[in-house]
Amino acid sequence: MYLKGAAMEFQENVPLAPYTTFGIGGPARWFAEARSEGDLVEAAAFAREAGLPLFALGGGSNLLVSDQGYRGVVLRIALAGIEEERRGSSLIFSVAAGEDWDAFVDHAVAKDCGGIECLAGIPGTAGGTPVQNVGAYGQEVAQTIHMVRAFDQMQSDFVDLAPEQCGFSYRRSRFNSFDAGRFLVCRVDFSLEQGRAPSIEYEDLIRYFKEHNLSCTLGATSRAVRVIRKSKGMVISPSDPDSRSAGSFFKNPIVAMGVYERIAAGFSPAPVPHYPAPADDTGRARVKLPAAWLLEKAGFHRGLIRGRAGISSRHTLALINRGDALAADILRLRDEIIAGVEEQFNVRLEAEPVWLE
Ligand code: NAP
Repeated sequence: MYLKGAAMEFQENVPLAPYTTFGIGGPARWFAEARSEGDLVEAAAFAREAGLPLFALGGGSNLLVSDQGYRGVVLRIALAGIEEERRGSSLIFSVAAGEDWDAFVDHAVAKDCGGIECLAGIPGTAGGTPVQNVGAYGQEVAQTIHMVRAFDQMQSDFVDLAPEQCGFSYRRSRFNSFDAGRFLVCRVDFSLEQGRAPSIEYEDLIRYFKEHNLSCTLGATSRAVRVIRKSKGMVISPSDPDSRSAGSFFKNPIVAMGVYERIAAGFSPAPVPHYPAPADDTGRARVKLPAAWLLEKAGFHRGLIRGRAGISSRHTLALINRGDALAADILRLRDEIIAGVEEQFNVRLEAEPVWLE
């Protein structure tokens, strides 16, 4: 059944699995698509009047839906369009939330605009990027976001949020933490500098440029990032079983220096990989540990199989749907990994994908 609102259709019991890169999940009680700001207002009113929660769905690339589905309203954000305006040596791109992220990276790079070239090949929509402050290879969207326009369900009004109002930190923002569920992102403005040199800082990228003897252009960088991601099964493709995933399933933990020193002492003289991280609120030094290294050392290797779930054969951090997996299969493997890593290192990993039930 479906209900017709003023401008939109609300369909009942729509399976969500096809809308996720995992290919997992039960139905949404109600489902609609927003193509305009007016649709966002209408969907929010529909949910409020029905007394149901509303979930904004982008590319479904960082999402695990429960086998029972979602009892509220799923609103697929399909607002389209990119506009640009010159400001000195930069271009401000106003990108509607439903635009494909990777296509936008291509668009910006083609205009010789730098700042997001390392974020090529990341699945999902532009509107999803500020939510978890998407980042890769040393860049994160917080560095180039000029403004986030969103519908604030609390005030029933549109707001234009400056980056300082978005609460950005590592893979985090107000949209996925203290204000989760409050805002429906409808547009993101990026300020990208024309003619800027590409950012080539991470080992994988530096090695790729050396091995292929490439000159350092924005285009070469975004192409290199796509090749590297593809080699790790991190570019969504129907023909790649390793990409039936939500990308990295675990965040790279940021731990107190003492935790790292304890782990390093246990592995001495072998080095333990670690990277600088911001100090905590009390000024104590911290470091970032690669979650993939912790998994490997705790015995969770690429290609591991647990029934219908498993670990990608090319990336330790990607849990995969091996075919007909249920969310329950993924959760069981998640719990096994979290417990195994905690027992070995006394570090508790956090899952990255959004859990919808
Ligand atoms: P990777 O490049 O093997 O890196 C593993 C870990 O080491 C990450 O914590 C990474 O930090 C850190 N690292 C490596 N080189 C570093 C350097 N030169 N300086 C500081 N930190 C360094 O990771 P991967 O799993 O193959 O992923 C590639 C990139 O995609 C990474 O940047 C990763 O964070 C990113 N990614 C992002 C998302 C997301 O936004 N949701 C999902 C999947 C992967 P960083 O995490 O700070 O980069």
